[in-house]
Amino acid sequence: MDFNDTPEEAEFRSEVRAWLDDNVQKDWRDRMVNGRFGEVCREWQKIKYDGGWACVNWPKEYGGRGLTPIQSVIWSQEESKVAPPSAAMLVVGLGMTGPMLMVHANDEQKARLLPKTASAEIVWCQLFSEPAGGSDLAALRTKAVPDGDEWVINGQKIWSSGAHESDWGILVTRTDPTVPKHKGLTFFVVDMKTPGIDPRPIKQISGQAHFNEVFLNDVRIPDANRIGAVGDGWKVAMTTLMNERLAVGASGGAAGAAGNFDSLFDMVRDLEGEDGPLIGDRVVREKLADWYCREAGIRNVNARTVSALSRGDTPGPEASISKLIQGPQKQDMASFGMDLQDMAGTLIDPEMAARRAEFQYSLLGSPAGRIAGGTDEIMRNIIAERVLGLPGDIRVDKDVPFSDIPTGA
Ligand SMILES: Cc1cc2nc3c(=O)[nH]c(=O)nc-3n(C[C@H](O)[C@H](O)[C@H](O)COP(=O)(O)OP(=O)(O)OC[C@H]3O[C@@H](n4cnc5c(N)ncnc54)[C@H](O)[C@@H]3O)c2cc1C
Repeated sequence: MDFNDTPEEAEFRSEVRAWLDDNVQKDWRDRMVNGRFGEVCREWQKIKYDGGWACVNWPKEYGGRGLTPIQSVIWSQEESKVAPPSAAMLVVGLGMTGPMLMVHANDEQKARLLPKTASAEIVWCQLFSEPAGGSDLAALRTKAVPDGDEWVINGQKIWSSGAHESDWGILVTRTDPTVPKHKGLTFFVVDMKTPGIDPRPIKQISGQAHFNEVFLNDVRIPDANRIGAVGDGWKVAMTTLMNERLAVGASGGAAGAAGNFDSLFDMVRDLEGEDGPLIGDRVVREKLADWYCREAGIRNVNARTVSALSRGDTPGPEASISKLIQGPQKQDMASFGMDLQDMAGTLIDPEMAARRAEFQYSLLGSPAGRIAGGTDEIMRNIIAERVLGLPGDIRVDKDVPFSDIPTGA
């Protein structure tokens, strides 16, 4: 594979650089440091949308630019050098909901929701996980009951990132408990301002509270907001989750390693150990080389996924490989970065700690990255079954009507 630009790609890269040069706000880094991360990212998304550079690989009619996969990669490479990073708060909309709607929504829903998603006028949250339905999402219990042209929803979701500051949510519900668990689900989009939706933030180890419990009490959703057929919710949820793994793996998001390696390398270059510059230390060099090789491997797996997308295929189970490698790697690199800072590694106040406590926050966030979007064990199951073709996990309740599965209650 030749990774150098063709003359056409080089010309396109110059066009991208020129646009970014004219449009990226010069003060975004200062504003982010002052805690206005979400606001800066939302603004940047709108600037891109108005300039025709939002969601560059989406079709133009949905607010994208219709670029080829290779052009999209060039855009991302150049954007990541100079512009605000993609905010986690936009990932559900841009990386998951948009691609899912393009496959499963009807024309009216696509026209109503996709352009506003591309411009970040609608910020989305994901209302999938429940106390009894995380890895085993099909075990979810939130009920949707039809009532005329509406559905009445009752239940509880949990770990819903950003639900307290989102405009709309993607929601999976149970509409038929008399059939096996994967078959009785139905998928909706819901306006988070609908009466009966009650998000309650959960405090995390970092001190932040970015995810929520969400209680749904007699929430009424018009049937026009059902995505796909009644009973087809599992299929729609699977498209969403495949895109989630791709978005997280390819962007170096919650579980990603991208970004951290360069930072670590930068820091090591400036540090002195007892026997001279740390960059000359054999153990340090071995670790850096190992992480660099893994990152290169991930880039190549992602390139393979991009090639598959360019052939019109939907993202496959291979996206799980990137997520599985990046999660633990991010944790290891953050831990090593703190070790290298010696006693100062225990400081977490961004005003006092080295590199604004980047590795400290990364370490606190990395276990969550190995759970969100599917745990390491679930990634291993997916790779074993769907990439390597090994025998499947034992699923005793697969063909049993949901209402007959013992709950222990
Ligand atoms: C930071 C963060 C953000 C999140 N954001 C969202 C969000 O926005 N929306 C949302 O809906 N959810 C969200 N989640 C929830 C996330 O999807 C679930 O936590 C995850 O799917 C695991 O489910 P669980 O927590 O119920 O754990 P469980 O499914 O109860 O798993 C417990 C343990 O058992 C293991 N396990 C389970 N099943 C198997 C199996 N078959 N084989 C081997 N091991 C197994 C798991 O690996 C894990 O170690 C988020 C989670 C985190 C950490």
